[in-house]
Amino acid sequence: QAASQAFESHTPMMQQYLTLKSEYPDKLLFYRMGDFYELFFDDAQLAAQLLRITLTHRGQSAGQPIPMAGVPFHAADQYLAKLVALGHSVAICEQVGTPGLTKGPMERKVARVVTPGTLTESTLLPDQENKTLLSLFSEDGKYWGVACLALSAGSIRLLECDSGALAAHLSRFNAAEVLVNNRTWAQHSQITGCIERPAWHFDAGFAQTHLQSVLQAANLASLELHNAKLAVPAMGAALQYAKETHLSIENFKHVSDIQVEHEQDFLVLDEAARRNLELTETLRGEPAPTLFSRINRTGSGMGARRLRQWLLEPLRNLATIEARQNKIQHLLATLGQAPEPVCFNLVKTLRAMADIERISSRVAMQTAKPRDLLALRESLQALPQVEQLIAHFGDSAFETAQQAFQAPPELLAELMQALAENPPVLIRDGGVIADGYHTELDELRNIQTGSGQFLIELEKQEREATGIANLKVEFNRVHGFYIEVSSAQADKVPAHYIRRQTMKNAERYITEELKAFEEKALSAKDKALNLEKVIYENLMVWLGQFTPFLQRCARELSELDALAALAIVAFEANWVRPQMVPHALLNIQQGRHPVLEVQVEQFTPNDCTLHPGKHMALITGPNMGGKSTYMRQTALIALLAHMGSFVPAASAQIGVLDRIFTRIGASDDLAGGRSTFMVEMTEAATIVRQATPHSLVIMDEIGRGTSTFDGLSLAWEIAKRLANTNKCLTLFATHYFEITALGHELDSVFNVHLSATEHQGKLVFLHRIEAGPASQSYGLQVAKLAGLPALVVKNAQKRLDQLEAEKRAMNAQVDLFDLPSQDAVEQPASAQHVNLILEKLNEIDPDELSPREALQLIFQLKGLQ
Ligand code: ADP
Repeated sequence: QAASQAFESHTPMMQQYLTLKSEYPDKLLFYRMGDFYELFFDDAQLAAQLLRITLTHRGQSAGQPIPMAGVPFHAADQYLAKLVALGHSVAICEQVGTPGLTKGPMERKVARVVTPGTLTESTLLPDQENKTLLSLFSEDGKYWGVACLALSAGSIRLLECDSGALAAHLSRFNAAEVLVNNRTWAQHSQITGCIERPAWHFDAGFAQTHLQSVLQAANLASLELHNAKLAVPAMGAALQYAKETHLSIENFKHVSDIQVEHEQDFLVLDEAARRNLELTETLRGEPAPTLFSRINRTGSGMGARRLRQWLLEPLRNLATIEARQNKIQHLLATLGQAPEPVCFNLVKTLRAMADIERISSRVAMQTAKPRDLLALRESLQALPQVEQLIAHFGDSAFETAQQAFQAPPELLAELMQALAENPPVLIRDGGVIADGYHTELDELRNIQTGSGQFLIELEKQEREATGIANLKVEFNRVHGFYIEVSSAQADKVPAHYIRRQTMKNAERYITEELKAFEEKALSAKDKALNLEKVIYENLMVWLGQFTPFLQRCARELSELDALAALAIVAFEANWVRPQMVPHALLNIQQGRHPVLEVQVEQFTPNDCTLHPGKHMALITGPNMGGKSTYMRQTALIALLAHMGSFVPAASAQIGVLDRIFTRIGASDDLAGGRSTFMVEMTEAATIVRQATPHSLVIMDEIGRGTSTFDGLSLAWEIAKRLANTNKCLTLFATHYFEITALGHELDSVFNVHLSATEHQGKLVFLHRIEAGPASQSYGLQVAKLAGLPALVVKNAQKRLDQLEAEKRAMNAQVDLFDLPSQDAVEQPASAQHVNLILEKLNEIDPDELSPREALQLIFQLKGLQ
């Protein structure tokens, strides 16, 4: 009751606001007031902070000033873009009533909810990537159904996976919002920031009903949904959420590409691999230089999105991979030809094309803007040009594309006739529909532009009819149209003239005809605008029937663009077509790192051969020697090959892989609360548990995160396990020279090293892979290069000499980096002292010590020696 009293004490407008807001508690509410969208209370505070707009107050309600912030409605898009980019959702509430018509505040309604995962607006979406809505459903928190809805692309992907693979799918699909049926389970699976939705949204029957209204097809049998029992309920929740944000599901007709994915379709890249290999983002989170930025020579946003998808979803099907290779080869063949290579022309033409994929989605959803349709018209006009370019190949490989570019003639014809030559941005400005398209609209427009002529003619006609030579037809704002006759002639006016006003020397009249004209003229403008809106909406409904054609066309255009990009890269950097084979094999001759090869002045190519008889290379060599580059380049070449791309090498045979695993670098997972070592071991555990003979595994310096002997022992055993049990194709870089012994012990393991030489007292890296283990660590030289003071390096050299002498004396093989400190070797404490110290150490629990106590302890221990 207190709450209702509090509610009552607000002004009527605030009550309206609070009612609307209560339906969208977790979204910002943009409340339309005249030319502004206003935010109140907490929303205002948050928006002011996020958008850097001024926080003010509006009057008082319930005895308190109301915090308020606002954005002008005509600039709302730019603020919305900022908010969704930050992951916020906004409910947009419009005025729907007519001002002054009702008592109290004007009627308002939420017209659309803008959320990061359900965008279709061109102003809110990045050109080169999709933003998707991911929905996750599980019955036990371990095995999950995943549905990914890309509303702007009109696609749904369904799959099922273990909780460990969720993060990988999240990043592959570029999920901007995640729905779950159980937030706690999701958190256990390392998925945070998701929205929990009620259980009834995750219902298979509910999902089918939704899908039927989207597809307008009763028969869902062909979709193989029975293979995705957990994914179907997830899809139901996704469609429900999208329905809520777009306030209808009937308009999702473009969502027609629904596929059930199987793990065996793709080469699996987990989240660690995607990140470590810097596929679409550098380790620092920048978009370049990455593998994607390197190969993205596409001309259109659609093409860039397709290429990104290919990169993140490498294939395992030989036939599909080879089909892409064939097309690239055709495109490539034209590139050497002067003067205008087909491939470059293709990209140039595609650059001028509109984003047909997204426009067709907006047409289906009835939200396309006039400029969208204009762009669509121009693109359809350019289609024959693209078709001509690919006809050049005269190859059946491009047949489906050619068919897809046959636009139904009535489509272009209608757009030509219906749309003005240069329509304005918004339909409400008028002038979108061309003259001559719609008779009634033409008439309404003629009234506006032609009223001058009508009046002249009417005047002439009335003068003749009445014989009053100085009769005038005129207009003023107060009285509208009238006929003026001088007082002297007033007795000549015919009976049907109706007197309206008497002036000093004249009389003013109107006639039925003039009145009718007046009504028509004054309302013509409004009427024309309203009629245009209706015609425009009808046009979009009519265009909606071409959605399947537009989507197919967009798909083929985007693929051509992606293929042309790969051909151009291959041409310019001399990449070759890899031979794909079904068995486990990597045989790369003169391979190069695709990204580094264009960054360093002279890149040294290297070979890499792994096959079941010799499937593990142990890589040693100095820091900065090129170990990690070599391993990454091998993974990247394998990955490019699985995309269907050519690869940076002199030649390559690549066996179809099931997965690429990486364990590279050391980074603390601070957010997840795991130490470097923990991250390292978790990743290693995944690899040891899951790698098969068809996996490529890259291990860079495993064991660094802990003490020497722990690290060495773990690294050793992991290497052995991978070699003997997993039998995966493995590149294993290590700084523990001891492990190189495995190369002699096991037949499947061999040693290689990166070479370096010293030239005039300086270290020169050759970056060349050579057989056998490395002989030296070159640590000191690297330290010198890194700018450590000369004296430090000189003393370290002395110490090293001493250590090596001792090592020879002990005749044991010890890692140079990790010898016990020299002081301990030089001045061994007597056994007695050691016992005392050990005793003392036994007494303490390091976790209990404050820094100060620890320091005191050190002094005490020092005193004991
Ligand atoms: P490591 O992993 O052995 O410490 P990196 O692979 O990080 O060494 O290589 C260090 C640097 O050496 C790279 O940033 C690159 O500039 C250069 N480099 C590595 N491999 C090559 C190569 N094959 N050709 C030319 N430069 C290379």
